[in-house]
Amino acid sequence: MQITAAVSRGAETPLTVETLTLRAPHADEVLVRVVASGICHTDATTRAAFPPGLPIVLGHEGAGVVEAVGEQVTDVAVGDHVLLTYQSCGLCAECSNALPGYCADWAMLNAGKFGPDSPLRADAEPVTGSFFGQSSFASHVLATRRNLVVVDPEVDLVEVAAFGCAVQTGAGAVTEVLAPDASSVLAVFGVGGVGMSAVMAARAVGVGTVVAVDLSPARLELAATLGADVVIEGAEDVAARIRAIGKGGATHALDTTGAAPVIATAINALSARGVLALVGLGASPLPIEVSALIGRGKTLRGSIEGDVDPHTFLPRLVDWYREGKLPMRHLVRAYPVARINEAMADAASGAVVKPVITFP
Ligand SMILES: [Zn+2]
Ligand SMILES: [Zn+2]
Repeated sequence: MQITAAVSRGAETPLTVETLTLRAPHADEVLVRVVASGICHTDATTRAAFPPGLPIVLGHEGAGVVEAVGEQVTDVAVGDHVLLTYQSCGLCAECSNALPGYCADWAMLNAGKFGPDSPLRADAEPVTGSFFGQSSFASHVLATRRNLVVVDPEVDLVEVAAFGCAVQTGAGAVTEVLAPDASSVLAVFGVGGVGMSAVMAARAVGVGTVVAVDLSPARLELAATLGADVVIEGAEDVAARIRAIGKGGATHALDTTGAAPVIATAINALSARGVLALVGLGASPLPIEVSALIGRGKTLRGSIEGDVDPHTFLPRLVDWYREGKLPMRHLVRAYPVARINEAMADAASGAVVKPVITFP
C-alpha cells in the first residue's frame, strides 16, 4: 500500500514527507494507521549517527488505530486503539521474566530493518524501516503483538503517544527500579520528557520529597506544577543544596541527561546507601570516584525503558492518565507531519518538552 512518511537522509538535510510503499502484513503482524507519534531524543541521535544519504523512517512513540491483522493475531481487532513500544522477541530468558527491555535480541530488533528485510520502499530504493519495530513517523506501520498494547478508545492518542518510550522510561525508573516511598528524597536530574514523567510518577505514588534539577527555568516551573517540591536551577552547588534537604541527601536519584558532570553531581548528592539510576545515554565516558561509592555504600544502576513490561505497565499509565495523575497536556505540543522539521528543532532546543507529530 501507499503511505506517507517523513524520511531522514542525515542530520544535515531536512526530513522530507514522501509517498512510500509498505508491504502487506505477515501472519504475525498488525497494520496500524498512525494518529500520533512522539519525538524522542533517540530519534535525533539515530538520525545523526545513520550514514548520510541513506533513507530511514524514524519514530518509536507511535499511537494509532488497527486497520488489519495477520491470521495468527487473535486478540487484536480492526478498529482497536493501540500504543506502540519497542520490539522484543518474547522467547529469551529476560522476555520470559517480563523484562523485555533486556531482550537478548534487543539491538537487532530495534535498530531498524535494512534492504530486503525492510517493509518500506521508495520507488526502487530501499528505505530502512521497522525502527523500534514500528518507524512511526509514517501514516501506517507494521507492528506485532509484542510491541503493541490495546488501550481504551476514549483516551486522546496525541497526549498518550509517548507512553511507549519516554513516559514508561521515567515513570518505570521511579516505580519499578528505584521504588522510593513516603520517607524518601528523590532527585531527578534533567526534566525533559523522561524527567517530567519521573516527577509525575513520584507524585502519583506519594514519594516524600521530589527535587527537580535542570538548567531551564521554564522547565523547572513546569516540574513544580507537576509535583516537584524543590526545584534547583543551574549547575552550581547542586549536590550541596540537595544534601541540605532532609536525610543528608537524596535517598534516590535519576539521571536523564547522560552527561558525565551531571552524573558525578548526582552521585555526590546521594545520601548514605542512596541509589542512582541512569537512563540517559551519554556520549562521554564516565570517570567514577570509587571511594565515593564504597565509603557511603552508594549504588549506581542502569535501566532501559524503566524495567517495565509494556503489556502490563502501559495500561497502568493509561489509568493514571484518566485519573489526572499524568497531565500530559502540559508537556505535549502537536504538529502536523508537514511541520516535522519544526517539531524536531523544538525537541532539540528544549522549547517543547514533548513534540508529537500527527497524521490527518
Ligand atoms: Zn527476548
Ligand atoms: Zn525513545
